Amino acid sequence: MKSELFINGAWVAAQSGGMIDVIDPASEQVVHQIASAEAADIDAAVKAAKSAFDAGTWSGMTGAERAKVLRNIATNIEARTEELARLEVLDNGKPLPEARWDIEDAAACFNFYAGLAEELDAEDAQNITVSDDRFTTRVVKEPVGVVGAIIPWNFPLLMAAWKVAPALAAGCTMVLKPSEVTALTALELGDIAQKAGLPDGVLNIVTGFGPSAGQPLTEHPDIDKLAFTGSVTTGSRIMQSAAKDIKNLSLELGGKSPFVVFGDSDIEQAVEWIMFGIFWNQGEVCSATSRVLVEDTIYEKLVARLELEARKITIGDGMDEGVLLGPLVNKSQYDKVLGLIATGVEEGARLVCGGAHTDICKGYFVAPTIFADVDENSVIWQEEIFGPVVCLKSFSSESEAVRLANDSEFGLAAAVMSKDDARCERVARALRAGIVWINCSQPTFVEAPWGGYKKSGIGRELGQWGLNNYLETKQITRFDDNSPWGWYLKQADNQTG
Ligand code: NDP
Repeated sequence: MKSELFINGAWVAAQSGGMIDVIDPASEQVVHQIASAEAADIDAAVKAAKSAFDAGTWSGMTGAERAKVLRNIATNIEARTEELARLEVLDNGKPLPEARWDIEDAAACFNFYAGLAEELDAEDAQNITVSDDRFTTRVVKEPVGVVGAIIPWNFPLLMAAWKVAPALAAGCTMVLKPSEVTALTALELGDIAQKAGLPDGVLNIVTGFGPSAGQPLTEHPDIDKLAFTGSVTTGSRIMQSAAKDIKNLSLELGGKSPFVVFGDSDIEQAVEWIMFGIFWNQGEVCSATSRVLVEDTIYEKLVARLELEARKITIGDGMDEGVLLGPLVNKSQYDKVLGLIATGVEEGARLVCGGAHTDICKGYFVAPTIFADVDENSVIWQEEIFGPVVCLKSFSSESEAVRLANDSEFGLAAAVMSKDDARCERVARALRAGIVWINCSQPTFVEAPWGGYKKSGIGRELGQWGLNNYLETKQITRFDDNSPWGWYLKQADNQTG
């Protein structure tokens, strides 16, 4: 396991010598330590990224040359899938099969952006027709420069891939700050990228706390672009830092995603998608199915089926065979989720099942939790809980369902289920969210845009949209006529005449 900072192709200790404990959330044991970077380390990392960018060792390559390295990264990740997946479980707590899935998706993300890097060569000069045919204009795409990327702890390597792969494909250099809570696989990415042939200084990885490492990164004058995933509070702070130097910014923040189930739906299918939507990754998912709106004709039946299935879920150490729900990521998330469950009870929602899972004496385990009859103005209906807690409410008409679904400060994802296709399409268009699933919930594809409306963020990741985050657009216009342009002289003649 790596513990040092990865700066300019070398593994170095934090200048202060500070270290942070890495805690296994299933056992609460300290399993490792990582360096605690501060402003001086961030400065060194940004300088390395800037020198690499200015030297053009990466940005000056063709897309095809960059693609080769990105594909090597993907291959090296694939070759280490089992080891990386186990590190993820140790750090984050998620069940091992889900961790393997993350690692495979991370590799796929590098392969996908390798393809788009190659396409950049073909698109290099796009001619456009302008209204004066004495001029020719072409548009070129160029890397935005030095990127500061800050990622959270819920999908550690995958969230790194979502930012590193497109940024590198575009030709940017970068400083990545993973959450100090789950930095182990992000550090391995430094090693993987170096062995894949990435030049020194192109990708720098610094571990540290948000205020002492993240903040100086966001404020550094040599950062051209900030890419962040995490909470609204931190996103807002980062936006303020970006404002000072007018830094390019993309934000992927939280969600409180509704799932609207109409009365003609297959209840078994609805229950399965809700279960997956809220209980995979312990509900620590920005797009989690956290608010479920069910037509009153099937409401009680669906709540009863959901309870039955939720009670069957095997809870335990993510390393153990058959476990479907691991511990929450750390003590502070555990306390936050249990605090919100207590708030839900105080607010008068019906606690169908769940709460603290006390069968296991160590670890941050929360049982699958279902609240029914939740008031639309309550804290648990409106706030992102980020744990295995689902809130249900009934509705009696399509317009009421859409109004309740949209009554949120968030707009990341939403889902609708019905056998009536026309209704699904109508509701999908009416939902104010960046991602809408019909008759399913959570499928995520590297080719499709990901991001939200309202307080869920700014910009889109993944697909072509993810690459555009890291590209500047330049027009180059030339005068191709040998005769004089004439406009200025004509104006001058008019004035003197
Ligand atoms: P944060 O938004 O605080 O953390 C996300 C990342 O930002 C981490 O790398 C963090 O570092 C860093 N960070 C924190 N403060 C600053 C700062 N001032 N400047 C720059 N970077 C900073 O989320 P939390 O981990 O505190 O989780 C709190 C809540 O956020 C969760 O309960 C959940 O509701 C939401 N969340 C949403 C996520 C999403 O995908 N939309 C992901 C994770 C959390 P460090 O870890 O060292 O603090």
